[in-house]
Amino acid sequence: MLFEELAELAGQRNAIDGRVVEIVAEIDGDRLWGATGARSIAGLVAWRLGLSSTTAKTITTVAGRLDEFPRCAEAMREGRLSLDQVGVIAGAAAEGSDEHYAQLAAVATVNQLRTAVKLEPRPDPDPRPEPTASITKSSDEHFTTWRIRLPHIESAKLDAALASHREALITEHKHDHAGALSGQRPPLPGTYEAFMRLVEAGWDAEVARRPHGQHTTVIAHLDVEQRMAALHLGPLLTDAERQYLTCDATCEVWFHRAGQPIGAGRTTRTVNRRLRRALEHRHPSCAVPGCGATRGLHAHHLVHWENGGPTDLDNLVLLCPYHHRLHHTGGITITGPATHLTVTDNDGQPLTSASLARPPTKPPPDVPPWTGPLGERADWWWYDPYQPQPPPTNN
Ligand SMILES: [Zn+2]
Ligand SMILES: [Zn+2]
Repeated sequence: MLFEELAELAGQRNAIDGRVVEIVAEIDGDRLWGATGARSIAGLVAWRLGLSSTTAKTITTVAGRLDEFPRCAEAMREGRLSLDQVGVIAGAAAEGSDEHYAQLAAVATVNQLRTAVKLEPRPDPDPRPEPTASITKSSDEHFTTWRIRLPHIESAKLDAALASHREALITEHKHDHAGALSGQRPPLPGTYEAFMRLVEAGWDAEVARRPHGQHTTVIAHLDVEQRMAALHLGPLLTDAERQYLTCDATCEVWFHRAGQPIGAGRTTRTVNRRLRRALEHRHPSCAVPGCGATRGLHAHHLVHWENGGPTDLDNLVLLCPYHHRLHHTGGITITGPATHLTVTDNDGQPLTSASLARPPTKPPPDVPPWTGPLGERADWWWYDPYQPQPPPTNN
């Protein structure tokens, strides 16, 4: 009795998943997910259906290749194939293999399908395994030892970079110590100094690229009367960029009036560590419903401090960099107070983190019970893998 019921439910579930996949394909095709504030169609599916990211990924993978696998899709709709089975096929099977796998999947388990897909000859089989580069380190009381194993070409790149940095250091050294007596002159910089200079140069470049990164700082200059800001030695910022950058003053803001600096804002607007911990304690992830990001969060001022908003718990929420930028560029709207946050998409529709799931109002899909694939021991010796067709040549 129980197994009969399981079979009936399994058939219905397959049919339901089949329909879910069709709907997702339609949402994706119309790019409807962008308006919801979600980062991706998979993110939207995970959020609105309350699924793991793995399951959501399977759904979007199948949805993305629905046109290529009409028979597999139809079998799902009729309750005869499961989402995971079709997911394996859509994940890696070659174009044109719909019929082949629709037949195979009728009897093959998910694992057997994985094997079958792996047996497909690949157009570009790697002649040799890639040599493995590696970086390892071990520490003793005083030092850490790094072992860097690189392919010759990468190694040559490192050599050249080190040589260039060493040369620059030696030039600076000669310039700085030209007049010094030979006994007081520090030793010439070597490979170690060149290596550290290389690291710092890379780090500086990263600072320029990711101003909000945890280990980076940028400097901005803000004219308090004109409400204009520019990056230090860099370009003028738009209003949105200025408010975004100065919202969580992880950057160092210098205030100017009539062209004169009147002070640095780092200490006043910065969310100090205590406040930040309190914010994390209140809500440890990005405040946008369905996001869940926990890394590199910015403290966003609900009322920007330019407009008199205080830097305190009631006026701050943590946002991931993506949603923080999206808010400041008008993609979503976040309004306080922090305890009763409202987040709306660009149509003004409120976003909530609840899944869309509700008790069914329609009868379940009318499909026959499904007892799953037979999953008999597969004899791969006799299995004929799908042979991808060579691409048509335009001669
Ligand atoms: Zn902000
Ligand atoms: Zn977010």
